[in-house]
Amino acid sequence: MNGPGFCPDCHRPVLWTRTLPGATTAGGKRLPVDRAPDPAGNTAIRRDGTTAWVSRRVTDQQPLMGYERLHMPHAATCRAQQTQLPLPLPKGVVRLDDRRRNRNR
Ligand SMILES: [Zn+2]
Repeated sequence: MNGPGFCPDCHRPVLWTRTLPGATTAGGKRLPVDRAPDPAGNTAIRRDGTTAWVSRRVTDQQPLMGYERLHMPHAATCRAQQTQLPLPLPKGVVRLDDRRRNRNR
């Protein structure tokens, strides 16, 4: 799948891209990014020809080019994947897992 789609985990709209080879990665992987451009993101996306969306990591050595747009990788915002990428919780908010653990004590 390439192009607009939905996250299979949280069902939010994403844009499926194919990663380009990077300095440390072979590329060719499927990477979903949030559909709306995000200046805080670290992933540059562009169209490869007329069909496929491709993405790459923006670095100091390879900054954003004029023909690219900056997006946030969906894994950074996906609610279903927060156990893999824990976000800081507001004060007073208890993680559900912690509450369960306490109840079983
Ligand atoms: Zn998701």
